[in-house]
Amino acid sequence: MDCLFCKIINGDIPSKKVYEDDSVFAFYDIDPQAPVHILIIPKEHIASAAEVNESNSGVVAHIFEVAAFLASDMGLSDGFRVVTNCGDSAGQSVKHLHFHLLSGRDFTWPPG
Ligand code: 5GP
Ligand code: ZN
Repeated sequence: MDCLFCKIINGDIPSKKVYEDDSVFAFYDIDPQAPVHILIIPKEHIASAAEVNESNSGVVAHIFEVAAFLASDMGLSDGFRVVTNCGDSAGQSVKHLHFHLLSGRDFTWPPG
C-alpha cells in the first residue's frame, strides 16, 4: 500500500521515533506546530477517525494511554492537546489515522 505512515512504521522512510510497541508507533512531526509535536499512529492501517469501529477501536484507546504516558514521561505538566484531523475540510493530509500530541505553548479555542 502506498501510504506514507505505513512506510514510516516499517522503516522505509526514516523518522525520529519516540515510542513503539506491538500496535502503536509515535514519532516527531516533520513540521512542528508547537515546541512538542508528536504523531501517534496505529500500526494497523486505518484511513481516518471515520474508519474507527468496534473491531479496531481498541488501538485508539491504547493511543490515548500512550499519549498520557508520553505527556508524563516528557513532563508536559502545563498541559497538552491531542487532535486528529478527519477528512479534507478538517485538513487531513495523510490518510492514515494519526493523533497530534502538541505541547509547550498556549493553544487557542476554538481552533481555526
Ligand atoms: P494532518 O495534516 O494529516 O493532520 O497531519 C499530517 C502531519 O504529518 C503533518 O503535521 C505533517 O507535518 C506530518 N508529516 C508529513 N509528512 C511527514 C514525514 O515524512 N515525516 C514526519 N515525521 N511527519 C510528516
Ligand atoms: Zn498506512
